[in-house]
Amino acid sequence: MIHEPLTEPARLRDSFGRVIDYLRISITDRCNFRCVYCMPEEGFPATPKDESLTIGEIARLARVAAGLGITKVRLTGGEPLLRKDLPWLAAQIASLPSVEDISVTTNGFLLAEQAKALAESGLTRVNVSLDTLDPERFVKLARRGNLQTVLDGIRAAQEAGLSPVKLNCVLMKGANDHEAPSFAEMTMNEEIHVRFIELMPMRWNLDEGPSFEAFSAHQGQGLLQIKQASGGMLNDLEMRKMYVSSETVMRDIEAKLGPLEPAQLKTNGPARSYRLAGAKGTVGFISQISNDLCSRCNRLRLTHDGFLRPCLMSDGELDLRTPMRAGATDAEIADLFRHVVAHKPERHYLAEGQTVTGRGMSQIGG
Ligand code: SAM
Ligand code: SF4
Repeated sequence: MIHEPLTEPARLRDSFGRVIDYLRISITDRCNFRCVYCMPEEGFPATPKDESLTIGEIARLARVAAGLGITKVRLTGGEPLLRKDLPWLAAQIASLPSVEDISVTTNGFLLAEQAKALAESGLTRVNVSLDTLDPERFVKLARRGNLQTVLDGIRAAQEAGLSPVKLNCVLMKGANDHEAPSFAEMTMNEEIHVRFIELMPMRWNLDEGPSFEAFSAHQGQGLLQIKQASGGMLNDLEMRKMYVSSETVMRDIEAKLGPLEPAQLKTNGPARSYRLAGAKGTVGFISQISNDLCSRCNRLRLTHDGFLRPCLMSDGELDLRTPMRAGATDAEIADLFRHVVAHKPERHYLAEGQTVTGRGMSQIGG
């Protein structure tokens, strides 16, 4: 009897022993919202069209990554639903045999009209970012769009079978942190999974925002009003002041709604998940500042213009676009992936005061 040789599936492992099997791809740096912690009112300067990867180039890089052991892919941005060819790309990636999970992170504004096409493309699920359940506060935080359209998008995603739908919520002291129990309450009667993401102070806009004196006179809600008036984006210092730890959020929820019991949720990545008694959905916490997620980090990030980053919070990145356009083979591109993995830093140092001065979250892909 002839036995087939046993071959190990491909695996990427960094120099700290972490298996890297998750690629987040920013497919555009454009956005139809202007969230106060992510973009200034006027947006960032537009990237020349030929600097962004074509959809075919993104599909090729995803294929090379899958061949190296990437099994999970998330498409993000900017706002990924702004790219008309998103369903085509999702279908290409979904057809890669080693990819088990392909998802999208969206602000939800265009989801109602696209949920069905996305589900049909092979996309597994969506995460919708939503920071408030109050229509007026929505306009202050996102500065574009409206709450009802996003809620309609969430409903459409559920109806299209893009489940489980997860809601990503960033809470800020004095602005929307009191809404944590209302978000948690949403999980009682619906299979919806709310995850609170700690605000990450990233110093992308060093010359933006009010002076420190103006800042220290206003906190929380005041800061939001200043941003509204100035059209700016929260800067590093302001984000540090508005930061709310997961522990605080958890305490607030438990004080109002009772104990959160540990729960299991498949595909919940770095979130710690809990359930309120009798709830259909779960409440999760992504605590990248207060808790050590780095030791379990399994990610790489590809920017919309073709740079591969081993860490969201460190400025290092490697250009894949130039070699690819100069005719690099798949094997040569695979080597560049391995090089980036080999240089993945052990952790970020935000809690120690490290600042990230390079690109914005919308440019890297949050
Ligand atoms: N536009 C899409 C959206 O909002 O879902 C995808 C891109 S957005 C950059 C991805 C996620 O990053 C969103 O959930 C957003 O709330 C989060 N984000 C952006 N800036 C952040 C910051 N400074 N701290 C924590 N989360 C942030
Ligand atoms: Fe746009 Fe998402 Fe950034 Fe908000 S968080 S401005 S929706 S990219």
